[in-house]
This record gives sequence, structure tokens and C-alpha cells, in this order.
Amino acid sequence: MIQQTLVLIKPDGLKKSLTGNILTRLSETKLEIVAAKIIRVSRELAIQHYWHLKESPFFEELIKYIQGELHGRKKVLTMVYYGEDAIKRVRLLAGATNPEEADSISIRGSFGRITTKGIYENVIHCSENEYEAEREIKLWFKPDNIIYDVYETEVKELKNIKTKVWKKNENENK
Ligand code: ATP
Ligand code: MG
Repeated sequence: MIQQTLVLIKPDGLKKSLTGNILTRLSETKLEIVAAKIIRVSRELAIQHYWHLKESPFFEELIKYIQGELHGRKKVLTMVYYGEDAIKRVRLLAGATNPEEADSISIRGSFGRITTKGIYENVIHCSENEYEAEREIKLWFKPDNIIYDVYETEVKELKNIKTKVWKKNENENK
């Protein structure tokens, strides 16, 4: 089944300069990257992303982790991978949530660790199932930032919306 899945390289992965290693491992899947951007994660986005763990004792620490506050790297690399059985294949390469239990050849088994505060720092996020993939992709990306319409879209005319644009060079058109 053709699927799409959200992949994040978390702040610990960026701090440890693992982007290249992780992308190389993921390229073994032959899946297609259909969206990619580097973003600063707001508290609101972090909370929505991890809403299912809201009641867990490590929730606040987890929010700090994904926002990059534990690593001095306030950014996350976000991507959408697309192709046959994308969700299962990326999860398989990522390995178990707990890096100590993850297969040692998996991404998390190779590069993850458990912090002294008990948070699993596991360098990568990937969607768990189709329902979560849809929820997460729609949370992290606008349709315009993905090269295919991976979910149904509609065109909406927005009025009086302020948006940041490149400032015109003063010498331009003189
Ligand atoms: P992710 O959603 O990040 O891909 P996952 O789906 O394997 O991971 P979840 O249960 O969704 O696991 O947990 C989200 C994140 O919360 C984990 O990646 C990890 O950083 C942290 N986490 C989950 N369970 C624990 C735990 N028992 N102790 C410490 N940290 C945990
Ligand atoms: Mg999860």
C-alpha cells in the first residue's frame, strides 16, 4: 500500500551531526522524500504532536526535548517520506522507542541514549500508523510544502491575511 509518513530528526540527532547518517539509512528504503523543512518547534506544536502522552510523568521534559531546550539546538528537520508501506518500513529502520531495547543495527539502537532524567533520546521520530501519519503530516506541513497532494485539499481564498515576504531591494526597478 502506498503511504506517507512523517519523519523528524530530533534536536539530539542534529546536535550529534547525525543528519547524513540517518538520511543514508533511510535511503535504503528507496522511499521518496516529498517534503522537507527545518523548523523551530513552538510549545503549542510540541504539545499537539505529543498529545497522546499528555498524562505521562515525562511529558514536560519531552516537550523541552522536542523544542531543543535540552540540546541548545532549537530546531528539528521535518520530512515526509512516501512510497510502498512507508510507515512500517521507516519504523523498522528506526527501531524500538527505548534505545536500549532497540536492535543495535537500527537508527535508535545505534545513536540513541536514555538521559539521567529518564527521557528516551532516540534521535528520530516516525509516525506509528496511518491515522497518526495523517494527523502529524497535517500538523507539521501545509499542502503547498508537499510536492504531491497526499491528502485531499481544497482551495480557499484568504482575505486580510498578513504574511512575511522578501523586502524589495531599494535599488530595484530604479
Ligand atoms: P516517536 O513518536 O518519537 O516516533 P514512538 O512512537 O516510538 O516515538 P511514543 O510512545 O510515541 O514512541 O513516544 C514519543 C517519545 O516520547 C519517544 O520517542 C521518547 O522520546 C519519549 N518516550 C516514550 N516513552 C517513554 C518512556 N517510557 N520513558 C521516557 N521517554 C519516553
Ligand atoms: Mg509516537
